[in-house]
Amino acid sequence: MSKINVHLDQLKKYDQAGPRYTSYPPATHFTEDFQVSNLKPPASPAPLSLYFHLPFCSMQCLYCGCTNIVTGDSSKSAQYLSYLEKELKLRAALIHPDSEVVQIQLGGGTPTFFQPAELKQLGELIRQYFPVAETVEAGVEIDPRSLTKDKVLALRDAGFNRASLGVQDTCGEVQKSINRIQSLELISEANEWLRDSGFDSVNFDLIYGLPKQSLKTFGNTLDDSLFLSPDRFAIYSYAHIPWVKPFQKSFEKDLPDPELKMRLLQLTIERLTDAGYVYIGMDHFARPDDSMAQALAKGTLQRNFQGYSTHKGVDLHGFGMSAISHAGGCYFQNTKELEPYYTALNAGSLPIIRGYKMTADDRIRYQAIMHIMCNLYIDYATLSAELGIDFTDYFKVDLASLDDLETDGLLQREEAGLRVTPLGRLFIRIIAMRFDAYLQNENRKGRYSQTV
Ligand code: SF4
Repeated sequence: MSKINVHLDQLKKYDQAGPRYTSYPPATHFTEDFQVSNLKPPASPAPLSLYFHLPFCSMQCLYCGCTNIVTGDSSKSAQYLSYLEKELKLRAALIHPDSEVVQIQLGGGTPTFFQPAELKQLGELIRQYFPVAETVEAGVEIDPRSLTKDKVLALRDAGFNRASLGVQDTCGEVQKSINRIQSLELISEANEWLRDSGFDSVNFDLIYGLPKQSLKTFGNTLDDSLFLSPDRFAIYSYAHIPWVKPFQKSFEKDLPDPELKMRLLQLTIERLTDAGYVYIGMDHFARPDDSMAQALAKGTLQRNFQGYSTHKGVDLHGFGMSAISHAGGCYFQNTKELEPYYTALNAGSLPIIRGYKMTADDRIRYQAIMHIMCNLYIDYATLSAELGIDFTDYFKVDLASLDDLETDGLLQREEAGLRVTPLGRLFIRIIAMRFDAYLQNENRKGRYSQTV
């Protein structure tokens, strides 16, 4: 893939605080006056995507932005599992009994903090409460430091067939500054176990923009990873949010500047596409025969709280502390603290703390933003038909606001639609932000991470 030139003035102009659009509106709009009574079981079955937040970690990685609990007490997972069962039971009443699970994801925290028997039990519990499709894509985030062969086998027994290995960066200096030391041998062994036990797809998670990273070190990380031949890569932009995670301040002075960070992204795109991976959305890469590349080709790629997903039009139900759901035109989130999560469930209540009921305008803008973030193209006729609107008329103000982005080469306005250019893809959140009805009245600093 040829190198994309980014001018320094463009970088300065478009390096802004902005949402990542894993939802629309962003989670910053959820409120505590959300009424759980808004949630009703749908009249007909809908395909389901289930997410389980398993929050425990043995150590704190200093780049982490997740909701997690660091503990040395390995018995905590058994107790948590018993509460997940309570939640499954309560939530099942809000879901049509014939709805089939097409996707499952375990995230955290560290799902592999759980013991083999607990992982198996979780798989059984899911099947106890919901019918699971034979073709289910069941994925799990894996920390190679806490993985054992027994856990891999237990996950396979529990029906998991996709794994995301948290590689992040293979350079020792970078690993030291983020407090996540894991040798290449450890990563390679985990990869081998997953392959040997028949996982259909192994994804590597990497992060660019970490402290002490250079083009040379990150180039080595990419080469190390390519050598192990994963099916997919998720290459996340490090999100610096010290107002939420104060420990991120510890390495602030070693962070790459926006120019280097952009060059790291460019290096990634060049190296992975040269190696035959298809570039997907803003931060994913997949082998052409992987289901994510196929979902892109079929137009069924979707963006949700776990990043990009292969299933469109599903109801997403999140379980566990802090988990977010998106179903029936509502977003709703569980409490982010463990004790209130347990207390609510002990009282027989859903631990939902905040949420948001989408308006008709939100639903329309959600689709427009998803098309930009996933397909890099908006076809006016298709979206007009899908949404029951005249797209160019409905969005005339938004479309008219794109002059500077077009002049700067980020997009092209064509007769039939709007196309994001390869340069625009590097600033995709900036383009999506022009379709966001809420941003004008928001102070974005200290609320969202930077777009570069
Ligand atoms: S293992 Fe994952 S969730 Fe836990 S501290 Fe590290 S990055 Fe955060």
